[in-house]
Formats: sequence, C-alpha cells, structure tokens
Amino acid sequence: MTIEYKSLPNKPRYEYAKNKAYELLDRLNIKSYPIDLNYVFETLGIKLISIQAAEPLLSASPEISSLLSVKAFQDKSIDALTTIIPTFGYVTFYDYSKSNERIQFTLAHELGHIILDHCLDFKETQYFRSKMTESQYKVLEKEADTFAGAFVRPANLVMSVNEKYTPLTVFNVSDLFSISLDAASVCLQIVNKFCQNPRLKNEERINFVESQFYEFLNAKYCTICGCTFVSSSAKYCPICGNTPLKWNNNSVSFIEFYRINVGGQTVMNYNTYPVNPITGAVSECPQCENEITHSEWNYCPICSLPTLNKCSSCGKQLAPHFRYCHECGKESIYFLENALKSWDVEAARIKAELEESNMPNSYDILY
Ligand SMILES: [Zn+2]
Ligand SMILES: [Zn+2]
Ligand SMILES: [Zn+2]
Ligand SMILES: [Zn+2]
Repeated sequence: MTIEYKSLPNKPRYEYAKNKAYELLDRLNIKSYPIDLNYVFETLGIKLISIQAAEPLLSASPEISSLLSVKAFQDKSIDALTTIIPTFGYVTFYDYSKSNERIQFTLAHELGHIILDHCLDFKETQYFRSKMTESQYKVLEKEADTFAGAFVRPANLVMSVNEKYTPLTVFNVSDLFSISLDAASVCLQIVNKFCQNPRLKNEERINFVESQFYEFLNAKYCTICGCTFVSSSAKYCPICGNTPLKWNNNSVSFIEFYRINVGGQTVMNYNTYPVNPITGAVSECPQCENEITHSEWNYCPICSLPTLNKCSSCGKQLAPHFRYCHECGKESIYFLENALKSWDVEAARIKAELEESNMPNSYDILY
C-alpha cells in the first residue's frame, strides 16, 4: 500500500484549525469549562503518558529514549511531544512537572496536531519531524496553537460572557478555563479585536457557542436571596426581585461573588411545586395543597387560586414558586394572593435547617 502524502502548507490554515476545534467540542458534547483533557484523550483513544512515568519503559527502545527522556525534554525546553508508535497508535508524552495551567494548553496543542492530521498527512512529519525546515515547523505549530485556543478557551464564548455580565478580567479567564495568565491574555486580545472590528465576528461560531454552552452561559445567581436558575432573558431575581443578577459559575471568583466555602453566602434551594409538563399548571395547589386532577381546570376547586402563576403586570407565565417576574420585576399573582410566603421567611427556615444539619452530634466526644 502506498501512502499519498500531501505537501506541507505554506501558511497556517487558521480557519481549518478553528473549524476542527469547534467540530470536536460538538462531537464530544462538551458543554462546560474547564475541559478535562485527560478525559478527552481517553475518549479519543489517544495514549497520554507523562515523561516521568514513561522513562523507566524507554530503556527497551534506545532510539526513542534519547528523544523522550526527562533530560531530553529539559534540554530542548519542550512541554510535550506526540508521535505514532507502530502497533500502539498515537502517543502524547508530556512533562508532568509543569503547572496545571500550562499543561492544559500544551495538551490541547498536541491534540491539535493529532486532530489536524499533522502526523499522517505529510511525509516530512514522520518520525519526529526530523525532515522539516524551521519555517514549515512553525506553520504547523501555529495551526496547533490555533486549534488549542479555540478548543480550550473559545474567544467567542468569552465574548458572549462579557456581553451578558461584567466583562471578564485576565484572572477570571485564567480561572475559568484553567489556563495560564499569558494564554488568558491572548484570548482577551482576540476578544478585543472582535469588538473593535465587528466584521471579523463569525455568526455561525457565536451561535454555536451560545447553544452548546447555553446552561453554562445563562446560569444566574442572586446575591441577595442565594437562588440559582438558568435563563437567558432574566433581568430580575424571580424569588426576591433583586437586580442585577450575577453569573453562576464556581470557577470564576468575582469580587462580589462569595460562596459559603469562602465564608460567604450559600446556594438556597427554595421550595418548588410539581407542574403538568405540557400546560405548566400546578398539579397540586400551593395554597391549599389540593390535588389538581384535571389539566383543563383554570382554578383550584377548593380555594380558587388560578392553576397557572403569571406576572401581575406583563402576564408572562411563571414557575409556581416565582414571587417576581424575571423579565419585568413585578409581583407574580401567586405572591399577591399570598399563596407564596415572602422569600426571607422561607430563607430563614432553610438556614435554620442547614445549621441544624451542620450541628455536631450531642454525643460527640471532644478531647
Ligand atoms: Zn507542536
Ligand atoms: Zn434573589
Ligand atoms: Zn387551592
Ligand atoms: Zn412581568
């Protein structure tokens, strides 16, 4: 069998590299960040071996051990290397001693070489790129970097976050995607470029990230009552009416955003009520607890509460436990009818229950 090799590209194929990254996000159904790259390599069947773990095994193959020893990595100051070992397939070796943030981008870069078929398409890249010129090598490096950037921290996603919430700082981007501050800064430069020149924006990719990462992007947190929910249109908290809402993302440490584990506020789970999945009407009356057995009933036959909760001002249909309309901020009819307690009454009950469950058992013996 003869292999048809392609000729090496003269210029980096930036769009090709980005498309491949987005295709992989879609194929692996990745919906949140940071990405677990160990999982990605495992799912794709690519062996990922730290150079530290591989070194004892390399004595069996002297011709690759000179390239793959810890010392060779240090001497050449490289972080990783990908190759195809006959009968073994793709193997990525990486330096485990580097920081996690650096490893994240490095592994995505190596994945780029694999997904872009750099090791298969070109005759010159067989056996450790020994037959490439420096400029040919740089072209492939830029392609792998472009893939890695789009895969591990899509600038389009950062742009969407910035439009919805307080713009992310370089520290936020580093936390969020688990990448180095340098890599985060490159990402924000790309975002700036898009914002200054909207013609560079790619609508298809923006639409992709907004649907692929819908929950990740639209998860909200209220700093007043501590509730969380997912909505792309919410401007007001449906429980306490507060505005503006924060982005609910544990990886990002916003200045005003403290959770119980860092000494701040906890997530509060307010009572919800079962609904008919088709009509959205309650299947049990929140006011008198009567079972609503007929889906066509508009009112509870016992206490005459409407079976649908709505905004008293704009008429939007709301979940039964919403005290306020998340779009216009006005009271819901359930709240006006006193079918729902004020949020702070319920919050006090939830807090008391939490404290009780955290209390040490009375027979704990302390020495
Ligand atoms: Zn590379
Ligand atoms: Zn609230
Ligand atoms: Zn009722
Ligand atoms: Zn409303």
